[in-house]
Amino acid sequence: MGAGDQQTEPAGSALFTWEEVQKHCSRNDQWLVINRKVYCVTEWAKRHPGGFRVIRHYAGEDATVAVIQDFRALHAYAEQKGLFRAHSLFFLAHLAHILLMELLAWLLIRLGGTGWIPTALCSILMATAQIQAGWLQHDFGHLSVFKKSSWNHLTQQFLIGHLKGGSANWWNHRHFQHHAKPNVFSKDPDVNMLKIFVVGATQPVEYGTKKIKLLPYNHQHHYFFLVGPPLLIPIYFQLQIMRVMISRCDWVDMVWCFSYYLRYFSCYVPLYGLLGSVALIMFVRFLESHWFVWVTQMNHLPMDIDHEKHQDWLSLQLQATCNIETSPFNDWFSGHLNFQIEHHLFPTMPRHNYHRVAPLVRALCEKHKISYQVKTMGEGLVDVFSSLKTSGSLWLDAYLHK
Ligand SMILES: [Zn+2]
Repeated sequence: MGAGDQQTEPAGSALFTWEEVQKHCSRNDQWLVINRKVYCVTEWAKRHPGGFRVIRHYAGEDATVAVIQDFRALHAYAEQKGLFRAHSLFFLAHLAHILLMELLAWLLIRLGGTGWIPTALCSILMATAQIQAGWLQHDFGHLSVFKKSSWNHLTQQFLIGHLKGGSANWWNHRHFQHHAKPNVFSKDPDVNMLKIFVVGATQPVEYGTKKIKLLPYNHQHHYFFLVGPPLLIPIYFQLQIMRVMISRCDWVDMVWCFSYYLRYFSCYVPLYGLLGSVALIMFVRFLESHWFVWVTQMNHLPMDIDHEKHQDWLSLQLQATCNIETSPFNDWFSGHLNFQIEHHLFPTMPRHNYHRVAPLVRALCEKHKISYQVKTMGEGLVDVFSSLKTSGSLWLDAYLHK
Protein backbone atom coordinates (compact mmCIF):
# COMPACT_ATOMS: atom_id res chain seq x y z
CA MET A 1 0.00 0.00 0.00
CA GLY A 2 1.35 3.45 -0.85
CA ALA A 3 1.83 6.42 1.41
CA GLY A 4 -0.54 9.36 1.00
CA ASP A 5 0.50 12.64 -0.54
CA GLN A 6 -0.53 14.82 2.40
CA GLN A 7 1.81 16.30 5.01
CA THR A 8 0.62 13.71 7.48
CA GLU A 9 2.06 10.75 5.59
CA PRO A 10 4.66 8.74 7.52
CA ALA A 11 7.39 8.64 4.83
CA GLY A 12 7.69 9.64 1.17
CA SER A 13 5.98 7.26 -1.20
CA ALA A 14 7.11 4.08 0.51
CA LEU A 15 5.04 0.94 0.62
CA PHE A 16 3.93 -0.59 3.92
CA THR A 17 2.64 -3.96 4.90
CA TRP A 18 -0.37 -4.34 7.23
CA GLU A 19 1.99 -5.69 9.91
CA GLU A 20 4.05 -2.49 9.78
CA VAL A 21 0.94 -0.29 9.85
CA GLN A 22 -0.53 -2.14 12.79
CA LYS A 23 2.57 -1.47 14.92
CA HIS A 24 1.66 2.21 14.89
CA CYS A 25 -1.34 2.17 17.18
CA SER A 26 -0.18 3.98 20.32
CA ARG A 27 -1.23 7.43 21.52
CA ASN A 28 2.02 9.05 20.41
CA ASP A 29 2.34 7.19 17.13
CA GLN A 30 -0.84 6.50 15.17
CA TRP A 31 -1.13 5.56 11.53
CA LEU A 32 -4.39 5.25 9.69
CA VAL A 33 -5.25 3.81 6.28
CA ILE A 34 -7.80 5.65 4.17
CA ASN A 35 -8.46 4.37 0.67
CA ARG A 36 -5.24 2.31 0.71
CA LYS A 37 -3.08 5.29 1.62
CA VAL A 38 -1.18 5.50 4.90
CA TYR A 39 -1.45 8.61 7.05
CA CYS A 40 0.28 9.54 10.27
CA VAL A 41 -2.55 11.02 12.36
CA THR A 42 -0.82 11.39 15.74
CA GLU A 43 -1.12 15.19 15.99
CA TRP A 44 -4.48 15.44 14.26
CA ALA A 45 -6.01 12.78 16.52
CA LYS A 46 -5.28 14.93 19.58
CA ARG A 47 -7.40 17.72 18.06
CA HIS A 48 -10.23 15.48 16.75
CA PRO A 49 -13.61 16.91 17.87
CA GLY A 50 -14.82 13.44 18.87
CA GLY A 51 -11.93 13.09 21.35
CA PHE A 52 -8.47 11.56 20.82
CA ARG A 53 -9.67 8.05 21.65
CA VAL A 54 -12.13 7.89 18.75
CA ILE A 55 -9.30 7.93 16.24
CA ARG A 56 -7.02 5.74 18.33
CA HIS A 57 -9.64 2.98 18.15
CA TYR A 58 -8.99 2.81 14.41
CA ALA A 59 -5.21 3.24 14.54
CA GLY A 60 -3.32 0.62 12.54
CA GLU A 61 -6.34 -0.36 10.47
CA ASP A 62 -8.34 0.64 7.42
CA ALA A 63 -10.86 3.32 8.39
CA THR A 64 -12.54 3.56 4.99
CA VAL A 65 -16.01 4.44 6.20
CA ALA A 66 -18.27 2.49 3.89
CA VAL A 67 -17.15 -0.81 2.51
CA ILE A 68 -20.21 -1.27 0.41
CA GLN A 69 -20.80 0.96 -2.54
CA ASP A 70 -24.54 0.65 -1.94
CA PHE A 71 -24.21 2.21 1.47
CA ARG A 72 -22.41 5.20 0.00
CA ALA A 73 -25.17 5.51 -2.58
CA LEU A 74 -27.79 5.35 0.16
CA HIS A 75 -25.94 7.99 2.17
CA ALA A 76 -25.80 10.25 -0.86
CA TYR A 77 -29.51 9.66 -1.56
CA ALA A 78 -30.43 10.50 2.05
CA GLU A 79 -28.42 13.68 1.79
CA GLN A 80 -30.03 14.63 -1.51
CA LYS A 81 -33.50 14.03 0.02
CA GLY A 82 -32.61 16.42 2.85
CA LEU A 83 -32.77 13.72 5.53
CA PHE A 84 -29.84 15.28 7.38
CA ARG A 85 -31.69 18.59 7.82
CA ALA A 86 -33.05 19.11 11.33
CA HIS A 87 -36.55 20.53 11.85
CA SER A 88 -36.25 23.17 14.55
CA LEU A 89 -39.95 22.85 15.38
CA PHE A 90 -39.58 19.16 16.23
CA PHE A 91 -36.78 19.86 18.70
CA LEU A 92 -38.46 22.98 20.09
CA ALA A 93 -41.63 20.96 20.79
CA HIS A 94 -39.53 18.36 22.62
CA LEU A 95 -37.82 21.05 24.66
CA ALA A 96 -41.20 22.65 25.46
CA HIS A 97 -42.69 19.37 26.75
CA ILE A 98 -39.63 18.83 28.97
CA LEU A 99 -39.81 22.32 30.47
CA LEU A 100 -43.56 21.95 30.94
CA MET A 101 -43.10 18.69 32.89
CA GLU A 102 -40.43 20.29 35.10
CA LEU A 103 -42.73 23.25 35.77
CA LEU A 104 -45.76 21.02 36.50
CA ALA A 105 -43.69 18.88 38.90
CA TRP A 106 -42.73 21.96 40.90
CA LEU A 107 -46.25 23.47 40.83
CA LEU A 108 -47.70 20.18 42.02
CA ILE A 109 -45.69 20.36 45.26
CA ARG A 110 -46.01 24.13 45.58
CA LEU A 111 -49.81 23.94 45.39
CA GLY A 112 -50.54 20.36 46.45
CA GLY A 113 -48.15 20.06 49.42
CA THR A 114 -45.44 17.50 50.15
CA GLY A 115 -47.68 14.48 50.84
CA TRP A 116 -47.01 11.04 49.36
CA ILE A 117 -49.30 11.38 46.35
CA PRO A 118 -48.04 14.77 45.10
CA THR A 119 -44.45 13.61 45.78
CA ALA A 120 -44.97 10.40 43.79
CA LEU A 121 -46.53 12.29 40.86
CA CYS A 122 -43.81 14.96 41.00
CA SER A 123 -41.09 12.27 40.93
CA ILE A 124 -42.61 10.56 37.89
CA LEU A 125 -42.95 13.88 36.06
CA MET A 126 -39.37 14.86 36.90
CA ALA A 127 -37.96 11.45 35.91
CA THR A 128 -39.81 11.67 32.60
CA ALA A 129 -38.47 15.18 32.03
CA GLN A 130 -34.96 14.00 32.93
CA ILE A 131 -34.97 11.07 30.54
CA GLN A 132 -36.46 13.13 27.71
CA ALA A 133 -33.83 15.82 28.31
CA GLY A 134 -31.28 13.01 28.10
CA TRP A 135 -32.53 11.87 24.69
CA LEU A 136 -32.60 15.48 23.50
CA GLN A 137 -29.05 16.24 24.63
CA HIS A 138 -27.99 13.06 22.79
CA ASP A 139 -29.45 14.58 19.58
CA PHE A 140 -27.54 17.80 20.06
CA GLY A 141 -24.36 15.96 21.02
CA HIS A 142 -24.41 14.27 17.64
CA LEU A 143 -25.48 17.39 15.75
CA SER A 144 -22.63 19.38 17.27
CA VAL A 145 -19.92 16.80 16.68
CA PHE A 146 -17.90 18.80 14.19
CA LYS A 147 -18.60 22.29 15.46
CA LYS A 148 -17.79 22.65 19.13
CA SER A 149 -18.56 26.35 19.32
CA SER A 150 -21.88 26.06 17.53
CA TRP A 151 -25.37 26.67 18.85
CA ASN A 152 -25.88 22.92 18.86
CA HIS A 153 -23.11 22.44 21.41
CA LEU A 154 -24.44 25.29 23.52
CA THR A 155 -27.89 23.70 23.43
CA GLN A 156 -26.37 20.37 24.46
CA GLN A 157 -24.59 22.07 27.38
CA PHE A 158 -27.87 23.64 28.47
CA LEU A 159 -29.73 20.31 28.19
CA ILE A 160 -27.25 18.02 29.94
CA GLY A 161 -25.65 20.66 32.16
CA HIS A 162 -28.43 22.98 33.28
CA LEU A 163 -31.38 20.56 33.01
CA LYS A 164 -29.61 17.42 34.28
CA GLY A 165 -26.50 18.42 36.24
CA GLY A 166 -24.23 16.46 33.85
CA SER A 167 -21.33 17.30 31.55
CA ALA A 168 -21.47 17.51 27.75
CA ASN A 169 -17.76 16.73 27.34
CA TRP A 170 -17.98 13.71 29.63
CA TRP A 171 -20.91 12.36 27.62
CA ASN A 172 -19.36 13.05 24.22
CA HIS A 173 -16.10 11.36 25.19
CA ARG A 174 -17.96 8.19 26.22
CA HIS A 175 -20.56 8.16 23.51
CA PHE A 176 -18.41 8.79 20.43
CA GLN A 177 -16.19 5.88 21.42
CA HIS A 178 -19.34 3.77 21.64
CA HIS A 179 -20.33 4.79 18.10
CA ALA A 180 -16.82 4.21 16.72
CA LYS A 181 -16.61 0.66 18.07
CA PRO A 182 -19.96 -0.53 19.50
CA ASN A 183 -19.72 -3.68 21.66
CA VAL A 184 -15.92 -3.94 21.26
CA PHE A 185 -14.13 -4.58 24.56
CA SER A 186 -11.69 -1.91 25.76
CA LYS A 187 -12.92 0.47 23.05
CA ASP A 188 -16.65 0.85 23.77
CA PRO A 189 -17.04 2.24 27.34
CA ASP A 190 -20.63 0.90 27.40
CA VAL A 191 -19.41 -2.73 27.57
CA ASN A 192 -16.93 -2.03 30.37
CA MET A 193 -18.88 -3.82 33.11
CA LEU A 194 -16.12 -3.36 35.76
CA LYS A 195 -16.07 -7.14 36.34
CA ILE A 196 -19.56 -6.89 37.87
CA PHE A 197 -21.14 -8.65 34.87
CA VAL A 198 -19.86 -10.85 32.06
CA VAL A 199 -21.42 -10.12 28.67
CA GLY A 200 -21.55 -11.67 25.21
CA ALA A 201 -20.22 -15.16 24.46
CA THR A 202 -16.42 -14.66 24.56
CA GLN A 203 -15.87 -12.86 27.86
CA PRO A 204 -17.73 -15.40 30.07
CA VAL A 205 -15.59 -18.25 28.71
CA GLU A 206 -12.39 -16.23 29.21
CA TYR A 207 -13.33 -15.41 32.80
CA GLY A 208 -14.39 -19.00 33.49
CA THR A 209 -11.23 -20.49 32.03
CA LYS A 210 -9.05 -18.09 34.04
CA LYS A 211 -11.10 -19.01 37.14
CA ILE A 212 -12.15 -15.40 37.72
CA LYS A 213 -15.06 -15.31 40.16
CA LEU A 214 -15.34 -11.81 41.53
CA LEU A 215 -19.09 -12.36 41.74
CA PRO A 216 -21.27 -15.42 41.11
CA TYR A 217 -21.82 -14.54 37.44
CA ASN A 218 -24.25 -17.42 36.94
CA HIS A 219 -26.65 -15.33 39.10
CA GLN A 220 -25.98 -12.03 37.33
CA HIS A 221 -29.45 -11.95 35.75
CA HIS A 222 -30.77 -11.73 39.33
CA TYR A 223 -28.33 -9.28 40.91
CA PHE A 224 -28.61 -7.09 37.80
CA PHE A 225 -31.89 -5.86 39.31
CA LEU A 226 -30.05 -4.69 42.42
CA VAL A 227 -26.85 -3.18 41.04
CA GLY A 228 -27.59 -2.37 37.38
CA PRO A 229 -30.61 -0.13 36.79
CA PRO A 230 -30.89 1.23 40.37
CA LEU A 231 -27.28 2.45 40.64
CA LEU A 232 -26.09 3.43 37.16
CA ILE A 233 -27.32 7.04 37.04
CA PRO A 234 -27.67 7.96 40.75
CA ILE A 235 -24.24 6.61 41.77
CA TYR A 236 -21.92 5.48 38.99
CA PHE A 237 -22.60 8.21 36.40
CA GLN A 238 -22.69 11.01 39.00
CA LEU A 239 -19.31 9.99 40.45
CA GLN A 240 -17.81 9.60 36.98
CA ILE A 241 -19.11 13.01 35.85
CA MET A 242 -17.62 14.75 38.90
CA ARG A 243 -14.30 12.90 38.57
CA VAL A 244 -13.97 13.69 34.85
CA MET A 245 -14.90 17.38 35.22
CA ILE A 246 -12.48 17.88 38.13
CA SER A 247 -9.57 15.88 36.69
CA ARG A 248 -9.79 17.75 33.38
CA CYS A 249 -10.44 21.13 35.02
CA ASP A 250 -13.49 21.47 32.78
CA TRP A 251 -14.66 24.80 34.21
CA VAL A 252 -17.33 25.42 31.56
CA ASP A 253 -19.13 22.15 32.21
CA MET A 254 -18.69 22.67 35.97
CA VAL A 255 -20.49 26.00 35.73
CA TRP A 256 -23.36 24.45 33.75
CA CYS A 257 -23.57 21.62 36.29
CA PHE A 258 -23.52 24.10 39.20
CA SER A 259 -26.34 26.08 37.57
CA TYR A 260 -28.47 22.92 37.67
CA TYR A 261 -27.95 22.36 41.41
CA LEU A 262 -28.46 26.05 42.13
CA ARG A 263 -31.83 26.07 40.33
CA TYR A 264 -32.92 22.70 41.70
CA PHE A 265 -32.13 23.47 45.34
CA SER A 266 -33.57 27.00 45.20
CA CYS A 267 -36.83 25.51 43.86
CA TYR A 268 -37.11 22.52 46.20
CA VAL A 269 -35.31 23.37 49.48
CA PRO A 270 -38.15 25.77 50.49
CA LEU A 271 -40.60 22.89 49.94
CA TYR A 272 -38.74 19.78 51.21
CA GLY A 273 -35.77 21.16 53.15
CA LEU A 274 -32.19 20.26 52.22
CA LEU A 275 -32.25 16.54 53.08
CA GLY A 276 -35.67 16.05 51.53
CA SER A 277 -34.49 17.72 48.31
CA VAL A 278 -31.42 15.48 48.16
CA ALA A 279 -33.64 12.43 48.73
CA LEU A 280 -36.04 13.60 45.99
CA ILE A 281 -33.34 14.03 43.34
CA MET A 282 -31.82 10.66 44.26
CA PHE A 283 -35.23 9.02 43.87
CA VAL A 284 -35.89 10.78 40.55
CA ARG A 285 -32.51 9.58 39.24
CA PHE A 286 -33.27 6.10 40.52
CA LEU A 287 -36.48 6.06 38.42
CA GLU A 288 -34.73 7.60 35.40
CA SER A 289 -31.92 5.06 35.69
CA HIS A 290 -34.30 2.08 35.36
CA TRP A 291 -35.84 3.59 32.24
CA PHE A 292 -32.45 4.46 30.77
CA VAL A 293 -30.74 1.12 31.43
CA TRP A 294 -33.50 -1.09 30.06
CA VAL A 295 -34.07 1.03 26.94
CA THR A 296 -30.39 1.42 26.06
CA GLN A 297 -29.41 -2.19 26.84
CA MET A 298 -32.15 -3.59 24.57
CA ASN A 299 -30.33 -2.35 21.48
CA HIS A 300 -26.84 -3.71 22.20
CA LEU A 301 -26.58 -6.19 25.08
CA PRO A 302 -28.18 -9.20 23.33
CA MET A 303 -26.01 -8.63 20.24
CA ASP A 304 -22.41 -9.70 19.49
CA ILE A 305 -19.97 -8.40 22.11
CA ASP A 306 -16.34 -9.24 21.47
CA HIS A 307 -12.73 -8.10 21.23
CA GLU A 308 -11.53 -6.11 18.25
CA LYS A 309 -11.83 -8.24 15.11
CA HIS A 310 -11.07 -5.44 12.61
CA GLN A 311 -14.31 -6.01 10.74
CA ASP A 312 -15.54 -3.54 8.19
CA TRP A 313 -17.48 -0.65 9.65
CA LEU A 314 -20.97 -1.58 8.36
CA SER A 315 -20.79 -5.24 9.50
CA LEU A 316 -19.59 -4.17 12.96
CA GLN A 317 -22.46 -1.69 13.41
CA LEU A 318 -25.11 -4.22 12.32
CA GLN A 319 -23.76 -7.07 14.46
CA ALA A 320 -23.74 -4.87 17.54
CA THR A 321 -27.13 -3.24 17.07
CA CYS A 322 -30.83 -4.12 16.81
CA ASN A 323 -34.04 -2.11 16.54
CA ILE A 324 -37.28 -2.03 18.53
CA GLU A 325 -40.55 -1.69 16.62
CA THR A 326 -41.75 1.79 15.84
CA SER A 327 -44.96 3.22 17.35
CA PRO A 328 -45.74 6.69 18.68
CA PHE A 329 -45.25 5.42 22.24
CA ASN A 330 -42.04 3.45 21.52
CA ASP A 331 -40.56 6.37 19.59
CA TRP A 332 -41.25 8.79 22.44
CA PHE A 333 -40.31 6.32 25.19
CA SER A 334 -36.90 5.57 23.68
CA GLY A 335 -36.20 8.99 22.15
CA HIS A 336 -36.37 7.37 18.66
CA LEU A 337 -33.38 5.23 19.67
CA ASN A 338 -35.58 2.24 18.88
CA PHE A 339 -34.25 3.04 15.37
CA GLN A 340 -30.81 2.20 16.75
CA ILE A 341 -29.53 0.69 13.48
CA GLU A 342 -30.36 3.85 11.55
CA HIS A 343 -28.87 5.94 14.36
CA HIS A 344 -25.61 3.98 14.17
CA LEU A 345 -25.41 4.12 10.38
CA PHE A 346 -26.32 7.82 10.23
CA PRO A 347 -25.31 9.30 13.62
CA THR A 348 -25.75 12.90 12.45
CA MET A 349 -29.20 12.37 10.95
CA PRO A 350 -31.93 14.09 13.04
CA ARG A 351 -34.09 11.42 14.62
CA HIS A 352 -37.36 12.58 13.05
CA ASN A 353 -36.05 11.22 9.74
CA TYR A 354 -35.10 7.70 10.86
CA HIS A 355 -38.47 6.27 9.85
CA ARG A 356 -37.90 7.57 6.31
CA VAL A 357 -34.48 5.98 5.86
CA ALA A 358 -35.29 2.73 7.73
CA PRO A 359 -36.98 0.87 4.81
CA LEU A 360 -33.99 1.69 2.59
CA VAL A 361 -31.52 0.42 5.19
CA ARG A 362 -33.58 -2.72 5.59
CA ALA A 363 -33.62 -3.34 1.83
CA LEU A 364 -29.85 -2.83 1.65
CA CYS A 365 -29.32 -5.36 4.44
CA GLU A 366 -31.64 -7.88 2.76
CA LYS A 367 -29.81 -7.48 -0.55
CA HIS A 368 -26.43 -8.16 1.06
CA LYS A 369 -27.73 -10.84 3.48
CA ILE A 370 -26.81 -8.79 6.53
CA SER A 371 -28.97 -9.49 9.58
CA TYR A 372 -31.32 -6.56 10.41
CA GLN A 373 -33.13 -7.36 13.67
CA VAL A 374 -36.35 -5.72 14.81
CA LYS A 375 -38.04 -6.74 18.07
CA THR A 376 -41.12 -5.73 20.01
CA MET A 377 -40.48 -3.73 23.18
CA GLY A 378 -41.44 -6.83 25.23
CA GLU A 379 -38.99 -9.07 23.36
CA GLY A 380 -36.28 -6.44 23.78
CA LEU A 381 -36.80 -6.34 27.56
CA VAL A 382 -36.82 -10.13 27.89
CA ASP A 383 -33.66 -10.38 25.76
CA VAL A 384 -31.72 -8.14 28.16
CA PHE A 385 -32.55 -10.56 30.97
CA SER A 386 -31.98 -13.75 28.94
CA SER A 387 -28.68 -12.59 27.42
CA LEU A 388 -27.33 -11.95 30.95
CA LYS A 389 -28.56 -15.40 31.96
CA THR A 390 -26.93 -17.06 28.92
CA SER A 391 -23.59 -15.29 29.48
CA GLY A 392 -23.72 -16.31 33.17
CA SER A 393 -24.28 -19.99 32.24
CA LEU A 394 -21.39 -19.86 29.75
CA TRP A 395 -19.17 -18.55 32.54
CA LEU A 396 -20.23 -21.28 34.98
CA ASP A 397 -19.66 -24.00 32.41
CA ALA A 398 -16.14 -22.75 31.63
CA TYR A 399 -15.41 -22.15 35.33
CA LEU A 400 -16.30 -25.70 36.28
CA HIS A 401 -15.16 -27.65 33.27
CA LYS A 402 -12.28 -25.87 31.50
ZN1 LIG B 1 -25.67 8.11 19.68
